[in-house]
Amino acid sequence: MMRKLAPSSSTFPLLILPLILPLILPVVLLLVLPLVPYIPAMTDAPAEAAARAAALRQEIEQANYEYYVLDRPTITDKQYDLLFRELRDLEERFPILRAPDSPTQRVGAEPATQLAKHAHLVAMLSLGNAFNEEELSDWERKICRLAGEAAVAAGYTAELKIDGAAVSLTYRDGVFETGTTRGNGTVGEVVTANLRTIREIPLRLRGTGHPPLLEIRGEVYMTFSGFEAMNAERVKNEEPVYANPRNSAAGSLRQLDPAITAQRPLSFFGYAIALPDGERPPVRTQWELLELLASWGIPVAPHRERCATLAEVHAWASRVENQTRASLDFAIDGAVVKVDDLRAQDELGVVGREPRWAIARKFAPDIAETRLLDIQVNVGRTGVLNPFAILEPVEIGGAVVKLATLHNFDLVRNKDLRVGDVVLVKRAGEVIPQVIGPVPEKRDPANPPRVVHPPKKCPRCGTPVERDEDEVALYCSNVACPGRQLEGLVHFASRGAMDIRGLSYARIEQMIDAGLVHDAADIYRLTVDDLVKLERFAEKSAENLVAAIEESKKLPLSRLLNALGVRHVGEQSAQLLARHFGTMDRLMSATADDILEVRGVGEIIAHAVSSYFADPTSRALVEKLRDLGLNLTEPVQVAADGALKGKTVVITGTLPSLSRGEATQLVERAGGRVTSGVSKATSFVVVGEDAGSKLDKARQLGVETIDEAELRRRAGE
Ligand code: NAD
Repeated sequence: MMRKLAPSSSTFPLLILPLILPLILPVVLLLVLPLVPYIPAMTDAPAEAAARAAALRQEIEQANYEYYVLDRPTITDKQYDLLFRELRDLEERFPILRAPDSPTQRVGAEPATQLAKHAHLVAMLSLGNAFNEEELSDWERKICRLAGEAAVAAGYTAELKIDGAAVSLTYRDGVFETGTTRGNGTVGEVVTANLRTIREIPLRLRGTGHPPLLEIRGEVYMTFSGFEAMNAERVKNEEPVYANPRNSAAGSLRQLDPAITAQRPLSFFGYAIALPDGERPPVRTQWELLELLASWGIPVAPHRERCATLAEVHAWASRVENQTRASLDFAIDGAVVKVDDLRAQDELGVVGREPRWAIARKFAPDIAETRLLDIQVNVGRTGVLNPFAILEPVEIGGAVVKLATLHNFDLVRNKDLRVGDVVLVKRAGEVIPQVIGPVPEKRDPANPPRVVHPPKKCPRCGTPVERDEDEVALYCSNVACPGRQLEGLVHFASRGAMDIRGLSYARIEQMIDAGLVHDAADIYRLTVDDLVKLERFAEKSAENLVAAIEESKKLPLSRLLNALGVRHVGEQSAQLLARHFGTMDRLMSATADDILEVRGVGEIIAHAVSSYFADPTSRALVEKLRDLGLNLTEPVQVAADGALKGKTVVITGTLPSLSRGEATQLVERAGGRVTSGVSKATSFVVVGEDAGSKLDKARQLGVETIDEAELRRRAGE
């Protein structure tokens, strides 16, 4: 009996259902109801596909809100792009899922309520993406299918894809009237007063022939250098730092108080125009349009290229991704490829939120988030203590990054970097990765990150650390410090110095440990017999190394001067000194005042050089090198009558492949002259990674700036 009355294990849930249903139903409804608008007629799509699409839409809407309205994304662009692609693919497979309010059908996010609204003359669009060459070729095939091959007969204009915030500037009779954000593509937010604070945006267009009413479309962005300086200032004022230049630019633009925007280092590049219905632009191609914008005084991004074929676009885009990108002081996240012929653009038109005539060739991201595991200190060749970051390995632009430079302890403090922080790391081209800054909102209050203080003693030899009053660097003054010795010899053998192929960091470390090498002169005493006794040295590699060492003896004085590692003397100043004095003897007997007479050499270098040669250890080293047969003279330079004849060139920042000295030689071989300061007389400035005030000065004076690739081209390489 009892057994019959007791519910069996299979009937039990059914019996208690009436009891718990009133409890769980509201919860289920609460979870499901917000998804309902995203679930259109699902009848023709499998239930999982519909549910996945709804979930994706909700996730993307949330990301859009955080990115476009709050300027504070919580997922990376790559993660966003993957979600977006997945949704688009689902909607393509099951068109019934494509609701008109799907994020795939709309641009950006609804404009924020605090700012006035403005309807754009013509919709501001987004762009389709191509993540590889194949997708770019698919795009071309589609164009040819729709409009025939004639549509691409005029080729393409390829431009940098600036990673900033899109804006539209209305000019009436050439006068700047209204400035807006992109908003939802049709209606934007009015930010005129904020845009007026960007000095590069002309309040009145230059030149003539402007259409009476016109909207200039472009991107507001923040330079890396401006962004870093702004964050350093915020740390000083104990304000929270910003996460990245793109979000800072977008956030600054939508400030309610223009006085705040005015303090932000914002810049602008224009790339398109919009005209009232029925009006046509006064040019025929996108290329000419960019030139027209420039002639009106609108800043246009550098490095654009006119390409006859898609093959040329591929070549240009990979050059930009692998070389140019590293030298830019602003973020790009790809290249924009546009059908050049404006009439063909009209014919191709728009599909959904994207023009058919343009596409973004996205690059691998060069900024990634990871964790700062430790801050360690390296002793440089001149004794400078360089802090560097040990990172949780992260892939950036196709390479795994584990270490990044931190430059000096003032920057560590200014950026408020703490061990345990989630940090943003940038890797650009060949340049050593850099930590842009922490992501403070990702700090875990339960597990606070650790502040690292500058060392008081040299971590290699224990000598108390010194600091020059006017310098940010800390250094170890012990010339016999093993850390300094190693780095000094590595520098001695490096490419811009004695260029001894095969004498790597690991090998020098091995030779020091074996007691074979103490100073640079010892390198020239190495024999094949010495080397083959070391681990991993075969007879052949030992012979090659000895031959490379022998060969380096012939290099001119300028290379040796650089190799010696005199404080503040780099490739360029070594060349100036060697050319001026001609021989080591003349330089060694020069006073600081004599050295100051060298054009381009200032007091700090003059003082450092004269005190270096006043030191008996340095003089003894030079004598040993002389006895060992090194060349201590500089050949007289014959001015060439080449492609850069009469040009005065300034080089700034780290170039992707040429060292400073090699770039100088390239200019001089082509008949040009390299100077250190930018002035109106400067013909152009060659800009590399981390270019600072010289680039700003060039922009101020309107001096042309070019990258290494362009320099090589102009020098006739
Ligand atoms: P997009 O940034 O991929 O491309 C379109 C935009 O490129 C244009 O609106 C224009 O502003 C800009 N652009 C820059 N240089 C240009 C040039 N030379 N010519 C023409 N246009 C140029 O598209 P989107 O709709 O602005 O934004 C989508 C992207 O934004 C995503 O792919 C993702 O990278 C990012 N996003 C990220 C999140 C996130 O949470 N991380 C959220 C939303 C969007």
